[in-house]
Amino acid sequence: MTQAPQILLDHRLKSLRLPTVLREYGKLARQCATEGQDHVQFLARLVELEMIDRERRMIERRIKAAKFPAVKSLESFDFKAIPALNKMQVLELARCEWVERRENVIALGPSGTGKTHIALGLGLSACQKGLSVGFVTAAALVHELMEARDERRLLRLQKQMVGYKLLIIDELGYLPLEPDAAHLFFQLISRRYERGSVLITSNRPVMEWGEVFGDQVVATAILDRLLHHSHVLTVRGDSYRLREKRRSGLIKTSSAVSTIPATGKEGSP
Ligand code: ADP
Ligand code: MG
Repeated sequence: MTQAPQILLDHRLKSLRLPTVLREYGKLARQCATEGQDHVQFLARLVELEMIDRERRMIERRIKAAKFPAVKSLESFDFKAIPALNKMQVLELARCEWVERRENVIALGPSGTGKTHIALGLGLSACQKGLSVGFVTAAALVHELMEARDERRLLRLQKQMVGYKLLIIDELGYLPLEPDAAHLFFQLISRRYERGSVLITSNRPVMEWGEVFGDQVVATAILDRLLHHSHVLTVRGDSYRLREKRRSGLIKTSSAVSTIPATGKEGSP
């Protein structure tokens, strides 16, 4: 190709937003010529490269938008360390069909047992499936909601929070919520009900959520909506953090780590 048409082509590929075609066409054209592949084969391969790259970029964008505190996958999760956890159930959830069905997941267990890791792994799977995800801690969420209410932009924030296909709320229960905060939390769950999935992790069994929300009626109303279509993951066992420390010899004796009571079968804790 002479210089002028190539410059024009590059310019048009940029306008058409085909960065991979732009980057690869020259190299692939030479490769196809050596391999004796025709124009149609060349074009098919080029378009495939653009599509693969486009999907990768889309996943990267979703991961960035999710604001995960860290990117962790279930591949690095050691299921043998938590025998009480149903590995098949987690792997099934990683297929994300529950997100398509707008169901919820509640992961319950003491501190350090891998709840956040599982939530991050499931969130990452959802991003890879092209679903929009938002990750937030319960404390940050209520803080943001209260701030938005005070600044008269609550509706906008609620819309944003309802917009995600999957909203992950981590660490519910570490701090009890003020009545205002509990009410805003309820409003959000209520707005998302049957519109999108929620994944909540908590160190407190659901029987104690009345204390978390400071009000049994609000807690029941929240649980009623969350549990209607839900999967409960019970992550019982020793803290993985302490286990690792013990292994490395930093701690000699087993620290007392409370285990929460079993929450019963799926959907009926
Ligand atoms: P939790 O949210 O239940 O308090 P985390 O998910 O934060 O626990 O886990 C604490 C640390 O231990 C994290 O760095 C996490 O990646 C790691 N971890 C926990 N459980 C496992 C596991 N079964 N396999 C691999 N890493 C784990
Ligand atoms: Mg956690």
